[in-house]
Amino acid sequence: MKINLRKVTKTPLDFDVKSNTMTFKGYLEYYSGKLILLRANLTGSLEKSCDTCAEDFNLSVDEKIEFFISDGIYEGDTSIDLDVVESFDGNVDVDELLNSEIELIKSDYHSCDNCKSE
Ligand SMILES: [Zn+2]
Repeated sequence: MKINLRKVTKTPLDFDVKSNTMTFKGYLEYYSGKLILLRANLTGSLEKSCDTCAEDFNLSVDEKIEFFISDGIYEGDTSIDLDVVESFDGNVDVDELLNSEIELIKSDYHSCDNCKSE
């Protein structure tokens, strides 16, 4: 699902995308200058191998995601304390964002419940 950043206004624009087991649901809202605010919840479960015992397990995910998208090169604004992702074609692809969030979670260190309780 691609969203044209120039169509995002102060009125939140909802999106809701899914991968196999994950849901990425939230909204985009115009902030100021070239910046668009993204706020979303990432929920679902991911199959992952445990970083302790290497067994596969289902990692349940429930995360709040919040960052800015810059329409073009981000020139910096010290009043902002969130990450800024730059877009160079005036669009944001929320499916792509979902995939990169999933990759981020998978690359983190996670142990299965058995290992956690020890
Ligand atoms: Zn384990």
